[in-house]
Amino acid sequence: MDVHPENDMTGLVLDIQRYSLDDGPGIRTTVFLKGCPLSCRWCQNPESISPAPEIGFRAERCIGCRTCQKACPADAIMFDNADRIDRGRCTACGACAEGCPSRAMFAVGKRYSISKLLEEVKRDAAFYEESGGGVTLSGGEPTLQFDFTLAFLKACKEAGLNTAIETNGLAASDNLRKLLPYLDRIYFDLKIINSVEHQRLTGADNRQILENARMLVECRAPVDFRLPVVPSMTANKANISEIGVFLKKVGVREIGLCPYHENWVTKLSWLGRRDSPPAELQKPLTSEELLSVIDMFSQEGINARSVEGEIAAR
Ligand code: SF4
Ligand code: SF4
Repeated sequence: MDVHPENDMTGLVLDIQRYSLDDGPGIRTTVFLKGCPLSCRWCQNPESISPAPEIGFRAERCIGCRTCQKACPADAIMFDNADRIDRGRCTACGACAEGCPSRAMFAVGKRYSISKLLEEVKRDAAFYEESGGGVTLSGGEPTLQFDFTLAFLKACKEAGLNTAIETNGLAASDNLRKLLPYLDRIYFDLKIINSVEHQRLTGADNRQILENARMLVECRAPVDFRLPVVPSMTANKANISEIGVFLKKVGVREIGLCPYHENWVTKLSWLGRRDSPPAELQKPLTSEELLSVIDMFSQEGINARSVEGEIAAR
């Protein structure tokens, strides 16, 4: 499909993962869009939260060549500071990352036009055809860049591609409805039902999320609910029981479980962040904890299964 240049808006893409077997049926290309309206304490992609481009620095890769310092137009590279980047001065122009031979400096977020992104995902069309796969939009939260997401999904459909989205559900209901004609599958996170706890642990109210979950079931959208299983934060008896009650109320008896992994913690320093996550987030979820969550759902009459290898907890 040719996209008219006037409609060729751009979106901020965090990453494109090819040959994924984890983000929906078949072999998929997963496009991660940058920006999220939530800031979950356990977010495994902290670099996806800000809707603006950023620069990351992995000290262990640096060979000390100082190419970045010469390239920086803002005089923001400081070799006498462990953080290396003066983030007050940095404009995230990306010049340091472009020249870095060891990719110690790296751009977090790159702009793509619809046509360029479509071209990227269509490179794998043969794999989609053979495997029944397609394109999955993830994030961050893809609906945050709504116009881009809508236009890209339309373009994928016009190109005959299977499409899926991973969403945290915090979007205007009208916007979600507008996406439906262009989506084959929706993976919808249900994290915490108690509104005070949701606000405390994700930074946002959950009323709109629950409303959207109900709306999607009512309009028979192809939605799969998922729970990021996070030690103590989401994986506790009260929350699981409340999720069970909610699902039964809307007439759903299944949920996918996305096990928590702690390896995101190192990413914080790449972004110049010095905060340290609570102790329970610094270790992985054990298989016993996961089995106990499956058991708790079973007691609620909900069939829960791990989607490990499908979608990591966001
Ligand atoms: S992104 Fe641009 S302004 Fe920021 S440190 Fe790199 S070169 Fe300097
Ligand atoms: S260009 Fe890269 S490798 Fe060279 S000093 Fe800068 S960060 Fe280190």
